[in-house]
Parts: sequence; C-alpha cells; structure tokens
Amino acid sequence: MIEKNSKIAWKLNFHLLRQVAVIFLAFICVPKTGAVSGPLKLSVDARQVARRILHVTMTVPTAPGPITLVYPKWIPGQHSPVGPINDVVGLKFTSGGTAVPWQRDDVDMYAFHLQVPLGVREVEAEFYLTGTSDESGYLLGNSSAQQQMMLDWDQVVLYPLGVPTDAQTIQAQLTLPAAWKFGTALAVDSQEGQVITFRPVSVTMLVDSPLLAGARLREIDITPPGETRIHKLDLAAESAAALDIPEDVIASYRRLVAETGALFKARHYEHYNFLVWLHGTYQDGLEHHQSSDNRLPEMGLADAQWRRIQGDLLAHEMVHSWNGKYRRPAGLATPNYQEPMKGDLLWVYEGLTNYLGQVLAARSGLWTPDDYRDRLALIAAELDNRPGRSWRPLQDTAVSAPILYGSSPEWEAWRRSTDFYGEGSLLWLEVDTIIRTQSKGTKTLDDFCRVFEGGESSPPVMIPYTFDDIVTALNSVVPYDWRGLFHARLTSLSPHAALDGIYTAGWRLTYTDTPSELNNAMEAKLDSLDMRFSTGMLLGISGKIVDVLPGTPSDIAGLAPGMSLIAVNGRRFSPQVLRDALKRGKDTPADLDLIITNQDDFLTVRVEYHAGERYPHLERDGSKPDMLSSILAPLAAVRFEAWEGGAPVTYTAANGTPPSPAALKDYIGSYSNDELNSKWILVVQNGKLIRQQWMAEDQELEPAFPDGFIGDLSEGQFLMHFNRDRIGRVTSLDLATDMVRPMRFVKTENGSAAK
Ligand SMILES: [Zn+2]
Repeated sequence: MIEKNSKIAWKLNFHLLRQVAVIFLAFICVPKTGAVSGPLKLSVDARQVARRILHVTMTVPTAPGPITLVYPKWIPGQHSPVGPINDVVGLKFTSGGTAVPWQRDDVDMYAFHLQVPLGVREVEAEFYLTGTSDESGYLLGNSSAQQQMMLDWDQVVLYPLGVPTDAQTIQAQLTLPAAWKFGTALAVDSQEGQVITFRPVSVTMLVDSPLLAGARLREIDITPPGETRIHKLDLAAESAAALDIPEDVIASYRRLVAETGALFKARHYEHYNFLVWLHGTYQDGLEHHQSSDNRLPEMGLADAQWRRIQGDLLAHEMVHSWNGKYRRPAGLATPNYQEPMKGDLLWVYEGLTNYLGQVLAARSGLWTPDDYRDRLALIAAELDNRPGRSWRPLQDTAVSAPILYGSSPEWEAWRRSTDFYGEGSLLWLEVDTIIRTQSKGTKTLDDFCRVFEGGESSPPVMIPYTFDDIVTALNSVVPYDWRGLFHARLTSLSPHAALDGIYTAGWRLTYTDTPSELNNAMEAKLDSLDMRFSTGMLLGISGKIVDVLPGTPSDIAGLAPGMSLIAVNGRRFSPQVLRDALKRGKDTPADLDLIITNQDDFLTVRVEYHAGERYPHLERDGSKPDMLSSILAPLAAVRFEAWEGGAPVTYTAANGTPPSPAALKDYIGSYSNDELNSKWILVVQNGKLIRQQWMAEDQELEPAFPDGFIGDLSEGQFLMHFNRDRIGRVTSLDLATDMVRPMRFVKTENGSAAK
C-alpha cells in the first residue's frame, strides 16, 4: 500500500501539489467540522435527588457542522450495555439561547446527532436523569434516598463520539442539598457553600470516580501504620445506628488495607475511598481504580449476620483496583463506553477477584476461617449441583455475561448464571494449591499476584492482558500445564464441579442435617430457605419457589419456580413445618404431600424424598496438611504487638476461630529452642493440647485464635502461635510473654496422635 501511493505521489504536478497544500492549510486553520476541542463542562444539580431527579447541564465546545454526542452504554465493572438511557428525559441542546435540533440515531439509542450552526463555538446540553422507585442496581432509583445519594457520573454525561475518553478532558461541578457532605476520590478544586467544583480530569477518570453524599456521612481514616497512601471509609445511612460500626470491624478494614499491601506489594492509586451506601436491600459493589461503590442494607456493616453474608464485599471491590482496573482483559479494555466489551476472561477479572476477596476477608479478620469455609462449602455445593453444567461450560458463562447479569433466579441452576465468580473461587484455589505443591511450599498464588498485578507502585494506569499473558506469568512462578488446566476447567461439561483445590488443601465437601451459620444468616436476612441439596429446590421463607434443580425429587414431582408452597403434609407451610416433615420423612416411608399454588390454580404434589435435611460444610481431611489454614493466615506481620505493651488480653493480629479439637493433632511433636536450651513436647490428651517439659508439670494450652493458644506460667500468661509452611505443615511456634521478647521453637520431630 505505502509503496503504491508513493509512486503516484511522484506523478503529481506542481498545480496538484499546490492544491494539496491549500487543502492541508485549510485543514489545520479551521477545526474539522463539528469537532470538539477543549474541555467539556458538566454541572449536576442534586437538590431534588430525594425525588429521584438530577438536573444536568453541559457545555460542549464545538465547531459548525455535524456532531454526534453519546451517552455511556457499556459500563465498566458492569460488563454490560446497561447505561440508563431510558431514564434520560427533557433533553435539549441550545446555542446562545437558540435551540439546536437533534436526532437520535435510528439504530444506536445512545447516540444523538446534531447539526451545529455556522458561527457557533459551544453547544449547551440540558437533561434530567430520573429514577423510578422499583429500580435496582446502580440506577438512580436505587442510588437516591431521602438523606443520601451515590452519584455514578457515567449516568450524567454526554461526550463526543470518536474521541477516546482518556483524551477528553472534563470539569465537573455538583450542587448538593443543604448540609449534605460528600466523599469521593475526585480532587476538589473549590467549594462555595453546597457547590463543589472538581479539578479537570479525563472523562475516563470522572466516570471512574463515583461520589457518595448524604446528610449523615461518616468518614473514617483506615490507613494502617506505615502506609503512605490515605485510605478512607465513607459511610452514608439514614440512621445513626447504621453508622455505629464496632471498633473491631473498623480495625479489620484497616487490616484489609495492610493485607492488600502485603499481598500485592504495590498500589496503583494515589489514595483510596471505600464509598459505602447503607440503605435498601441491594447488595453489590462496583469497582473503581481509586475507590469502590459498595451497596449494603442499612445494617450491613453494623450487624454480625450481615457481615457473615457480605463481609468480603469491600475486599472484593478493592482487589479490583489491581485485578480489573490496573490489569484488564483486552476484551474489556475498550477506548470508550460505546464499544462493546468481551467477557471471555471474566473468570480472571471476576473469578480471581472473588477468590482473593474471600481470602483477604479471612486474612484481615472480617471473616473467621469458619466463615470462609462455610462460604466455600456453599459455593462448592452450588456448583457441584448445577445441572446447567451439562450444556453450558464455564467459558460460556463468561462470554454471555452481558445477558446473564440481568437474568432471573428462576431456573438458574439449569440456565447457569454468572458462575465465573463462584467457580473462580474454586479454580483459583486449585491454582494456589498447585503452585504450593509444585514449588514444594516455596511459592504461592500471592507470588503470581505480585508478578502479574503488583510491579512498581503508580498512579492509576491500565495494562491490558490476554489469556497467553496469564499462562506466561504463571509459568514464571511455577512451570506447569496451566494452559491445559484452564482449558479443561473452561470447557468441561461434567455435571460436577472440580473440587480438586479443596481436596488438595486438606478439606472435603460434606453434607449434614445442620445448617451452617452462613445458611442461618441467609435465611434470617435474605429470606432464603435453601433446600437445593435435599429436595432440590430453593425457596423464600414465604414458601415461594425460587428455583428447582432438574433431576431432583422436586423436579420429578413437577414443581417449578414461581409456584408457592401452601401446605406440607396437611399443615400450613412454614420453614419449620417443612423442616419437620423432612426429618420425619427420613424415618418413615411417608412422602412429602404438598399443596401448592401455580398462579391462580391450586394443586397437590407428592415429592418422593427420604434423605432428610442436607446442608453443605467443609470437613477436615486429616490425611493431608491443612493448606487452607496457611492460605488464610495473615500476611501482614503484626504478631504480638499488642502483647509487648504488657496487656496480654487480645491477640489482635488474627482474631477468629480458635483451633478445633480435631485440628489439634497438627501441633503434636517436639519443639526446641537452642538459645533457651529448652525442648517441649506437645501431645493431645482428652481432646486438649498439652505441653510437656522435663522437670515441669504438664500444662494444658487453651485455644485462643487461629493457630494460637494461651497458657499459664507462674509469672503470668503466655501466647503461643504456630507457624505453618505454605503447604500447611506446622514448622515452628512463637512464644511471647510480657517479660521477654518473642522466642521461636522449631519443630524437630512430628508426634503421633496416639501419644
Ligand atoms: Zn467484581
């Protein structure tokens, strides 16, 4: 091509050359027709936000001629074309007070064509963003309340088509209701009363920086000691009680920041704001580079049961700053919000984030190890009982994410949903255990995270990646057939989930008739009665059937989502009545006789089921080291800090579930410290861990925190913490008292449980 054109150029005569020069000069002297030059100006008036109305005005510098302005359609983090164009009303364009006619594109509903008149240098756009009371997700109807709002700027902006959003500058101004305060990662230029003017940024950065505002806004600095970047929790709620967060929970969020630092060893933001909206029923989060838009019910942070359900939310969204914002799959790294996104690598973007968010929740104490295992058991059971696996591989759940995000929970087990989240937790646990095993305990998934998403700390910057880049980075940590593993997991049509990661980590998926604490919390808070692993249906506590799993007794009996249970074995339905019937059915040949409604019809249905209640749990497999506990152990070292102050009351480093009697045998063995010339033998007697030492009385050690015990000395108490290698074997113990600095005892011999 180039060569051919060069030959033609040689044949141009002088006259032609002069013409070309005139055209060229004309081109550089007069801006391209309709082109935008200079920053956009955006002004949002939020004073009517309690009515679910935002008033938007914009100034768009332009030139005469045709121009197309677009409203964001494909929203980062939502991975779908869900920009709320239908909520935009009252749209007008003017110039110097004169209307400029517009026409919507007849194919793309998000594009507006204008003909800018001669002599016009600026066009004013005006519109209102409205919300409806039944909206959910991130729409204005679910982002506005009497005393608070979350502003997602993508919903209040138009920008010129064809300009990369990184290259288009915009300056935003916001007017808040009287006495409202706000939190955002955006830098403020000036503020006069309730009118805030922000510093000019790119359209990308504006859309990436939501704003939380409210009459009752609580800001908490959670920057851990030694961290130079400021981290804040910004909370908004309608009640003071919702903002009354226990101090130990705030301390855990501070630890979360420390743990992300210890995990990635670099940050790609200048400061970070967790924006937390505490209102309504919606629970989800939207990631950004320097902040996150987190939605929880009013008591989502204050209430322990909510924390059990959603304790990993903020950790998940924060992980996205590295995995999703800094490193982004090529198919999601689009130059603007109109170009379609491709979700083929969402099992990394969301899957790895799901795994790391849950691990970090445990490492930082937001979850106990039991909370983490309850969650993992539920995920494993859900995916292991998913009839949709037989037709839809994991890869297709990622590719079809744009249609799956909005899909109904009815027939979900058959359709499958955005399973790349939960299955990501299983897959990346498996990757973690493979790295630990292959490297003989010298490497972990944390090393991969540092290689792939850590690097040098920087301000926000985005580096796209491909499938091959992931394989290469993993191979640089530990050589393995990663390509083969991912291919197998992504294309499998096995009816069962690959639970290899759980097994290698020293645990098993099991079912008992006792619900986990997580099950109980979900029943109490989400009205969810989970009978999927027994009769094969998921219900609301009102009796409405949410899902029926094909192939299960409920399916065979003819039940369907949308039907409602009215009576069970002749008694009015309640969760307890159903539970009692399942218990009785275990010992007697009686089936479950149900009266149900299907829309306006009543019918009777007989379910043949006799295995009682079944709820998923993880059970320790004593034949293998407990690698899972190593994975969940905090990385950020603050052990014994609280102790050295001389108050041996709380072990703040890793509050959580103490070792169970079944786990005690991990610690059995001989431990010695050369400096003290001391040797201890630890044995288990009558379900207790006992310390034996020559010339000393046997001493019982009291389980206190994960891998940690408290013992009594004549001069006071001591704390003992066991260290594990990366594949979960106990290798040493650290001992601390308030009299001496911590001492390490190295494990010299393994014991046997028979002692
Ligand atoms: Zn996510």
